[in-house]
Amino acid sequence: MSVMACNREGCDNIMCDRYAHDIGYICNECYQELLVAKTHWPFSVPKDEVKQRIIEFMNTNKGHTYNLQGSEIDNEFDSIMGNHNCPDDEFDY
Ligand SMILES: [Zn+2]
Repeated sequence: MSVMACNREGCDNIMCDRYAHDIGYICNECYQELLVAKTHWPFSVPKDEVKQRIIEFMNTNKGHTYNLQGSEIDNEFDSIMGNHNCPDDEFDY
């Protein structure tokens, strides 16, 4: 049995007509969201970064905005970086 399940996080669609190497299947709904997300990409994007951006998009939950703005960026930044100090025991003094 071959199910063409959408590879996007949180998407349950199984009839995908699009497949990309390293990306997997993507349903039309997610593809349309990806196209919208792409319009928010910078005018200039390094070639190597294009696939990375698509992969990042696939890791966002369906229906969630891909692009953050203003304080949302700060919040996401803080949630990634945290405010934790390195544990002391990782270092030999
Ligand atoms: Zn999908």
